[in-house]
Amino acid sequence: MKLYNTLTRNIEDVQPHNPPEVTVYTCGPTVYDYLHVGNWFTYIREDILIRTLKATGYNPKWVMNITDVGHLVSDADEGEDKLEKGARREGKTAWDVAAFYTEYFTQSLQRLNITQPDYLPKATDHIAEQITLIQKLETKGYTYATSDGIYYDTSRFPSYADFARLDLDEQEAGKRVQFSAEKRNLSDFALWKFSPKDHQRDMEWDSPWGKGFPGWHVECSAMAMKYLGETLDIHAGGIDHLPVHHTNEIAQSEAATGKQFARYWMHNNHITIDGEKISKSLKNGITLEEIIEHGISLEAFRLHVLESHYRSQSKFSWQSLEAAQSRLKNWYAMAALRWQTIAHADDTAPFVIADVGGQLKDTLADDLNTPEALALLSRVFTQVDAVLLPREHLAKFEAMLRDVDSMLGLKLSEQPDIASSQKALIAKREASRTHKDWAEADELREQLVAQGIGLRDTPHGAIWYRL
Ligand code: AMP
Ligand code: ZN
Repeated sequence: MKLYNTLTRNIEDVQPHNPPEVTVYTCGPTVYDYLHVGNWFTYIREDILIRTLKATGYNPKWVMNITDVGHLVSDADEGEDKLEKGARREGKTAWDVAAFYTEYFTQSLQRLNITQPDYLPKATDHIAEQITLIQKLETKGYTYATSDGIYYDTSRFPSYADFARLDLDEQEAGKRVQFSAEKRNLSDFALWKFSPKDHQRDMEWDSPWGKGFPGWHVECSAMAMKYLGETLDIHAGGIDHLPVHHTNEIAQSEAATGKQFARYWMHNNHITIDGEKISKSLKNGITLEEIIEHGISLEAFRLHVLESHYRSQSKFSWQSLEAAQSRLKNWYAMAALRWQTIAHADDTAPFVIADVGGQLKDTLADDLNTPEALALLSRVFTQVDAVLLPREHLAKFEAMLRDVDSMLGLKLSEQPDIASSQKALIAKREASRTHKDWAEADELREQLVAQGIGLRDTPHGAIWYRL
């Protein structure tokens, strides 16, 4: 399988360290608020990575963390902890806020048909591991203390700027002096923050440096290495994490172990709306609930996500979401043909469903090319639409739907049959048509439409589909 590796800026063949296992770490949500569609784009694309690894014969071991402490409002270690902020907003404790949105997140994973990660570790359950990692860095001389915490000295890690190709001199020249005058370098980041003196935090722990809480970056390194070992095969996340969060993860992990932290880095590009990045701070974040209120199914949202490549900057719009919904409805109509096969009079008609699964796998294995995968499916369904489903192809057709679902999660193979009473109405209408009783045929069609069933008359009789 081929993947664009941010580390080398090349598309590379993924060669896991210990095949068929592939260790995968993806940065998870900060659980202080509802997630927005931009977040879900990233998680659905990571789900496609996992599904493709499975389809190509690998056995992914997937960890996604839950950030429930330490992610400050600014990625540059400034401002309030997002969890404490959420607690003030909702008049609850940070613990209650974290529990509520963690539950919301895991339920939404299911609603979106995202593969369940093998581990969903919480930062607050891994304080000891984070302290141990910071101590290792301290012993090796990578840390220093300021009045508000223990910091990582990025100048001690010479390749710090390489991963994101940062220009540190330029950053330094443009730095805003009012922040962290005690930091040695602008890019230095907090490993441990001390609890404030003027008020009590909901979440704080004792440590060798005093009461406080871990920085956001250190949790990912500590949990990734705990569950997956010191060198991961694939690390993924949003592209916004490249210059700070992932750069810091590499600096602290590699300084602690002396080993490469991750061999392949996958970055999902941003989703924009009206030309701006979707983000909580810009308050343009649409939630899954708003999508449902709009009459769009979560399966249609998933299809919309797959319509663009993970490395392209895609735009979110209600129009494209509605178009995705009607595209998916057409595909569901085709999938429903499995309940209404025909005895094919003309078996010379081309019918190409053999090895759609194989072609789909190859397309996804080429740097997760989901737009091309969907184009392939469109071509297949256009052919099916033209010749319907000959009875002898049923088993192959069902196998194809299952293959497609295993890779794309669109629930094509789950489309249910209609009730026998509805089938009886369809048969009655066929009889009316045979007797040229058009008025009755029309009336029966309307009855079916009222039940959400559409009809299309074909040379092989009427076929139904869900409206
Ligand atoms: P956060 O909770 O802000 O750390 O974001 C969770 C995940 O969603 C991260 O991997 C982000 O990179 C990703 N993310 C946030 N905003 C967007 C966006 N507009 N488009 C795509 N991914 C995003
Ligand atoms: Zn992370």
